[in-house]
Amino acid sequence: MTKNRKRTKIVATLGPACSTKEIIEEMMESGVNVFRVNFSHAEYGDVAEKIKIIREINDRRDFHVAILVDLQGPKLRVGVMGEKVKLKIGDTFTFTTEKCDGTNEKAFMTYQNFPKDVKVGEHILVDDGKLLFEVIATDNNSNVTTQVLRGGKLKSKKGVNLPNTKISLPALTKKDIEDALFAIKMEVDWIALSFVRTSKDLIKLKELIKENSSYKIPIIAKIEKPEAIENIDEIMPYCDGIMVARGDLGVEVPMEQVPLLQKRLVSIAKKAHKPVIIATQMMETMITSQVPTRAEVNDVANSIMDGADAVMLSGETSVGEFPIEVIDQMRRIIESVENSPLISIPDENVKCVDKRYISKIICRQAALMSNSINAEVITTLTDSGYTAFHISSWRPQSNILVFSSNKRILAMLNLLWGVKGVYYNKFVSTDQTIEDINNLANQRGYLNEGDFAINITSMPVKERGMANTLRITEFSKN
Ligand code: PGA
Ligand code: MN
Repeated sequence: MTKNRKRTKIVATLGPACSTKEIIEEMMESGVNVFRVNFSHAEYGDVAEKIKIIREINDRRDFHVAILVDLQGPKLRVGVMGEKVKLKIGDTFTFTTEKCDGTNEKAFMTYQNFPKDVKVGEHILVDDGKLLFEVIATDNNSNVTTQVLRGGKLKSKKGVNLPNTKISLPALTKKDIEDALFAIKMEVDWIALSFVRTSKDLIKLKELIKENSSYKIPIIAKIEKPEAIENIDEIMPYCDGIMVARGDLGVEVPMEQVPLLQKRLVSIAKKAHKPVIIATQMMETMITSQVPTRAEVNDVANSIMDGADAVMLSGETSVGEFPIEVIDQMRRIIESVENSPLISIPDENVKCVDKRYISKIICRQAALMSNSINAEVITTLTDSGYTAFHISSWRPQSNILVFSSNKRILAMLNLLWGVKGVYYNKFVSTDQTIEDINNLANQRGYLNEGDFAINITSMPVKERGMANTLRITEFSKN
């Protein structure tokens, strides 16, 4: 029980390192809240099997660990390279859209419109930016001539980033559409889209979900392109959460800009009452080492203090040697910093601008009140999760217990900071429901004799309408 008392959430990427039921169960016990399926690598049969294992553990252990499917998006790559291709600064090198094995003179580029879209002077980065090229000419047909600005070994199938080029590829590739349909069939809890550029990219994914699923699967916009940063204000209303995808972002913009961008994006997400995941290289050395570096510990801690809802592990859990130890370590960092006053309620007034005003202000006041009276829990009943998004974004010091009769909603909400889901399906009268809820909180160890609970409900409870009521309970068993 105590292991899962942390409020900042952990997203762990599935992979060959967590292939057995025992490892997955131990990871869940140690503090994983969300498993990520990375469709840059995953295989359907294997994913279906792992989702089944996770759901079986959820049911047996009364967990609500969520599944997030991450779509690759328009990721570019070079083709197969011959052995020992090594490029030197000043070399002339050609990227061609005609299929070939790569040599010291040329490489195949998977993106067919590249010679038309690219402009002289633009940069091409390969293998996480290890190699850098400048475009000196394009024939507008199949060949782009470049000069090597940063050389090194050029290996097969490495990723290509084009930070300045306006890419004409669709946001959802054929593969993404197939992967999304598979995700919908598997009834996953979140779908993330890589390399989002504008709100249009998200609208396409939303439409695909709407056409194929009766349940509205929420979407995460991965922020990893300069265009997404420029368009962040129009992107926010069309996503349900964002990811600061520092891996590609740190290649697409100078990496020294990533720390401030992280802070800016976290604050934008919190203002929109949407969760934000901080991703990539958080505990990178633990792929092969039993202990993280001090810098990694600081990075995780600072991300939490910035206000992240969740911190993410990629290779550390998908291919690393210590998938359980890294979760334990991350959980300990989270627990040691998250009671700090540095994580506080954002100082912003809720404005009376729409019809949701009443439930918004109720959530805000519940958070403020819980801090004033040192309440142990804020409770809310939800069918859609709306109040949970709001309460969580105010970062109250108390636990946020969310009661719902929809297990899918409970799993989805597990990504949100501080939110703990509890299954409840009675909804008789307001009095009875509040009593039930507080008793359940007590049974789960969140509420003891004499503690304060703040209960958010909607009256009359049977109508299951918008949250409109706040009640303070001093808990007593009788
Ligand atoms: P990826 O996304 O691991 O799917 O590339 C995260 C990132 O780019 O940081
Ligand atoms: Mn990425």
